[in-house]
Amino acid sequence: MGSRGAGMADGRFEPYTEAGVRRVPCARCGKPGHACWNICADSVGSRTRYRALCAACDVALNVLVMRWAFGDTREADIAAYSAKVLGEQNSPAGNTGEMV
Ligand SMILES: [Zn+2]
Repeated sequence: MGSRGAGMADGRFEPYTEAGVRRVPCARCGKPGHACWNICADSVGSRTRYRALCAACDVALNVLVMRWAFGDTREADIAAYSAKVLGEQNSPAGNTGEMV
C-alpha cells in the first residue's frame, strides 16, 4: 500500500483499443481481457473509468443486464449471443474480436 502505480487492474480513463484490452486482466476474475466497459457509478469525478472484462464475464454481465431489463422474454437472444462470444473464444482461429 502507499505508492499508487498505474495499476492495470484499476482501470484507466481512455477506452482500451481492441488489441490493448487483451493485454489487461479482467477486472472481475483476472483472465485475459476481451471487452472494454465502464460503469457510470465507477467514474472518478466526471471522468469515465474504463476497465477490461474477459469474455466469460462480459457475457455474464450482458446476460445479467438483459434479464434485468427484459425479464425472461429474450432467452433466445441471450443463448445466441453467449454461443457466439464464447464459441469464438474457444476456437483458436475464430477470435477476431468482431463486434456484433
Ligand atoms: Zn473475467
